[in-house]
Amino acid sequence: MFELTVKSEFEAAHRIENYPGKCVRLHGHNWIVEAIVQGDTLNELGILIDFKVLKDALNKVLDEFDHQYLNELEIFADKNPTAEIIAKEIFDRLSTAEIFSGTTKLKGVTVYESPKSGVTYFP
Ligand SMILES: [Zn+2]
Repeated sequence: MFELTVKSEFEAAHRIENYPGKCVRLHGHNWIVEAIVQGDTLNELGILIDFKVLKDALNKVLDEFDHQYLNELEIFADKNPTAEIIAKEIFDRLSTAEIFSGTTKLKGVTVYESPKSGVTYFP
Protein backbone atom coordinates (compact mmCIF):
# COMPACT_ATOMS: atom_id res chain seq x y z
CA MET A 1 0.00 0.00 0.00
CA PHE A 2 1.21 3.49 -0.82
CA GLU A 3 0.26 6.79 0.72
CA LEU A 4 1.07 9.97 -1.18
CA THR A 5 0.70 13.56 -0.01
CA VAL A 6 0.71 16.93 -1.71
CA LYS A 7 0.67 20.21 0.13
CA SER A 8 -0.75 23.56 -0.89
CA GLU A 9 -2.08 26.67 0.80
CA PHE A 10 -4.54 29.50 0.70
CA GLU A 11 -5.05 32.72 2.62
CA ALA A 12 -8.40 33.58 4.12
CA ALA A 13 -10.12 35.28 7.03
CA HIS A 14 -12.73 33.84 9.34
CA ARG A 15 -14.28 34.17 12.76
CA ILE A 16 -15.74 31.49 15.00
CA GLU A 17 -19.24 32.48 16.07
CA ASN A 18 -19.90 32.06 19.81
CA TYR A 19 -16.32 31.01 20.53
CA PRO A 20 -15.40 32.00 24.11
CA GLY A 21 -12.11 33.65 23.20
CA LYS A 22 -10.17 35.69 20.66
CA CYS A 23 -11.21 33.53 17.70
CA VAL A 24 -14.66 35.09 17.85
CA ARG A 25 -13.04 38.16 16.30
CA LEU A 26 -12.27 38.50 12.60
CA HIS A 27 -8.74 37.27 11.84
CA GLY A 28 -6.84 35.53 9.08
CA HIS A 29 -4.66 32.49 8.55
CA ASN A 30 -2.27 31.16 5.95
CA TRP A 31 -4.02 27.80 5.74
CA ILE A 32 -1.82 24.85 4.79
CA VAL A 33 -3.68 21.95 3.19
CA GLU A 34 -2.48 18.41 2.64
CA ALA A 35 -4.29 15.94 0.42
CA ILE A 36 -3.51 12.31 1.27
CA VAL A 37 -4.05 9.66 -1.40
CA GLN A 38 -3.86 5.92 -0.77
CA GLY A 39 -3.64 3.04 -3.19
CA ASP A 40 -1.79 -0.15 -3.99
CA THR A 41 -1.62 -0.08 -7.78
CA LEU A 42 1.12 1.83 -9.59
CA ASN A 43 0.99 2.71 -13.27
CA GLU A 44 3.55 1.54 -15.83
CA LEU A 45 5.87 4.36 -14.72
CA GLY A 46 5.71 3.28 -11.09
CA ILE A 47 3.47 6.20 -10.10
CA LEU A 48 0.43 6.01 -7.81
CA ILE A 49 -0.97 9.38 -8.90
CA ASP A 50 0.89 12.21 -10.60
CA PHE A 51 1.89 14.82 -8.00
CA LYS A 52 1.13 17.61 -10.48
CA VAL A 53 -2.30 16.28 -11.38
CA LEU A 54 -3.22 15.97 -7.70
CA LYS A 55 -1.83 19.39 -6.84
CA ASP A 56 -3.68 21.04 -9.74
CA ALA A 57 -6.95 19.44 -8.58
CA LEU A 58 -6.32 20.55 -4.98
CA ASN A 59 -5.49 24.10 -6.06
CA LYS A 60 -8.68 24.26 -8.11
CA VAL A 61 -10.65 23.47 -4.94
CA LEU A 62 -8.63 25.93 -2.85
CA ASP A 63 -9.27 28.75 -5.33
CA GLU A 64 -12.81 28.86 -3.97
CA PHE A 65 -11.47 29.70 -0.49
CA ASP A 66 -8.45 31.86 -1.34
CA HIS A 67 -8.60 35.52 -0.23
CA GLN A 68 -12.15 35.11 1.04
CA TYR A 69 -13.90 35.98 4.26
CA LEU A 70 -14.97 32.38 4.76
CA ASN A 71 -18.01 33.14 6.93
CA GLU A 72 -19.58 34.96 3.98
CA LEU A 73 -19.35 31.96 1.63
CA GLU A 74 -22.60 30.13 0.95
CA ILE A 75 -21.18 26.79 2.12
CA PHE A 76 -20.53 28.22 5.58
CA ALA A 77 -23.88 29.96 5.87
CA ASP A 78 -25.08 27.47 8.51
CA LYS A 79 -21.80 26.39 10.09
CA ASN A 80 -18.61 27.87 11.47
CA PRO A 81 -15.62 27.73 9.10
CA THR A 82 -13.41 25.90 11.60
CA ALA A 83 -10.36 23.94 10.44
CA GLU A 84 -12.44 20.78 10.95
CA ILE A 85 -15.30 21.94 8.72
CA ILE A 86 -12.92 23.36 6.11
CA ALA A 87 -11.06 20.02 5.93
CA LYS A 88 -14.33 18.17 5.34
CA GLU A 89 -15.50 20.65 2.68
CA ILE A 90 -12.17 20.36 0.84
CA PHE A 91 -12.31 16.57 1.10
CA ASP A 92 -15.86 16.43 -0.27
CA ARG A 93 -14.90 18.59 -3.27
CA LEU A 94 -11.54 17.00 -4.04
CA SER A 95 -12.79 13.41 -3.66
CA THR A 96 -15.13 13.93 -6.61
CA ALA A 97 -12.33 15.10 -8.93
CA GLU A 98 -11.97 12.72 -11.84
CA ILE A 99 -8.34 11.96 -11.06
CA PHE A 100 -8.90 8.92 -8.87
CA SER A 101 -9.40 5.44 -10.26
CA GLY A 102 -9.43 1.84 -9.18
CA THR A 103 -8.04 1.43 -5.69
CA THR A 104 -6.40 4.88 -5.72
CA LYS A 105 -8.57 7.04 -3.50
CA LEU A 106 -8.44 10.24 -1.51
CA LYS A 107 -7.84 9.06 2.06
CA GLY A 108 -7.97 12.32 3.96
CA VAL A 109 -7.40 16.05 3.98
CA THR A 110 -5.37 17.88 6.63
CA VAL A 111 -5.82 21.59 7.25
CA TYR A 112 -3.34 23.57 9.36
CA GLU A 113 -4.42 26.98 10.56
CA SER A 114 -0.94 27.48 12.03
CA PRO A 115 2.29 25.48 11.79
CA LYS A 116 1.46 23.80 15.11
CA SER A 117 -2.31 23.29 14.83
CA GLY A 118 -3.96 21.09 12.23
CA VAL A 119 -6.84 18.67 11.77
CA THR A 120 -7.32 15.74 9.42
CA TYR A 121 -10.71 14.68 8.06
CA PHE A 122 -11.23 11.03 7.05
CA PRO A 123 -14.60 9.99 5.66
ZN1 LIG B 1 -8.80 31.20 13.18
